[in-house]
Amino acid sequence: MASKYQAPRGTFDVLPANAHARARVERTAAEIFARAGYEPIATPAFEDTELFERGVGRSTDIVRKEMFTFEDKGGRSITLRPEGTAPICRAYLEHGMHKLAQPVKLSYVGPFFRHERPQAGRYRQFHQIGAEAIGTDSPLADAEAIMLLTDLLGELGVPGVELRLGSLGSPQARRAYLEELKAHLRANEGKLSKDVRERIDLNPLRAFDSDDEGTQAVMASAPTIVERLDGEDAEHFAAVRALLETAGIAYRIDPTLVRGLDYYTRTIFSFVCEGLGAQSEVGGGGRYDGLIEQLGGPPTPAVGWAAGIERILLALGEDEEGIGRDAFLAVADEGQRRRALALASELRHAGLAVEVDLAGRSLKGQLKHADRVGARRVLILESEGGAQLRDMESGEQRPVDPARLLEEIGGAG
Ligand code: ATP
Ligand code: MG
Repeated sequence: MASKYQAPRGTFDVLPANAHARARVERTAAEIFARAGYEPIATPAFEDTELFERGVGRSTDIVRKEMFTFEDKGGRSITLRPEGTAPICRAYLEHGMHKLAQPVKLSYVGPFFRHERPQAGRYRQFHQIGAEAIGTDSPLADAEAIMLLTDLLGELGVPGVELRLGSLGSPQARRAYLEELKAHLRANEGKLSKDVRERIDLNPLRAFDSDDEGTQAVMASAPTIVERLDGEDAEHFAAVRALLETAGIAYRIDPTLVRGLDYYTRTIFSFVCEGLGAQSEVGGGGRYDGLIEQLGGPPTPAVGWAAGIERILLALGEDEEGIGRDAFLAVADEGQRRRALALASELRHAGLAVEVDLAGRSLKGQLKHADRVGARRVLILESEGGAQLRDMESGEQRPVDPARLLEEIGGAG
């Protein structure tokens, strides 16, 4: 029966058929984070709006158009979190984590919210996995961050992934470069899209990201910041590259790489999966040395990334199989139902995945249902304590000793 209610535009239900693939992504990430010492952190789903205005940046698309912002009953402006880094930096400061041994290595997973036009791989509530190393400017942390995301996508088997790498330099280097870039944009103002033209002063870097043809032509001859890196910025970038090369991680320098958040400095990176079409980025991140100071803390260099779970699942193209059952306990005789449930519980305590019929089906119905749930074997309990074991693949059935059920069902077969 169709209900008149539907999930809100841009959102979706995770049904059991999809939940397993999703859980595998989260589990794999949790294992990778645990092995590398990135401890889990969880922050609220909403924050004061100002955190994102200051943290993400007023000139960004996220703050300008994508935030779910509302006033709460106390008249405060609240925003559903569009990203995880600013909240984690807020928590880092709020809980005095700058007093701990640095860097503080954190990881997270959870829902995020952006008011975007929904399409494949782009939702209004989506889920990210992310990692942050806060309190170090070492290129080792940049390289480790990239390694973790490489490992995640690799272990999950995401096909056709390319790592794009760039550097935005330090804020001073960037300021000088931005003047040069603005001059180039102004010299070609007539050819730019309206949106880019209006933001020459506000956010000229975003022009690299434009899908407007005229703008793209202008950007093809624009100066890039990677060419302008010098001094410590150039050394830092060279060190990150050398570390990736030592680790055998392939990458492509992308001098036009910009990210949709204002807080990045130096290293930025993006993992792109060609098979995904327009929403091709599965994850990305970079260094954000100025963010914590921007939020009122001490100068604290940091690096991190976030990956979209839905984009990873889309790239994997998996409609996941169910969890698989070691056995299904069927009853040939109604009097055996109590015994079946008790036995199922016993076998579950022994670590086996076992189901029983909860719907009063006939034996034939139970066998059909066992097949439906993917049970490898069915134990049929007969009257007087007898039992038959049926292999669902071969259809072979034989009597088994009720005293040896654990071995019979637990064993390979
Ligand atoms: P895009 O250019 O695709 O909008 P973005 O630069 O806004 O991406 P980030 O803010 O870096 O993305 O977020 C990190 C990751 O989160 C992205 O690489 C993507 O996998 C995922 N992501 C971002 N926005 C959405 C969305 N609206 N729906 C689903 N996944 C998203
Ligand atoms: Mg975006």
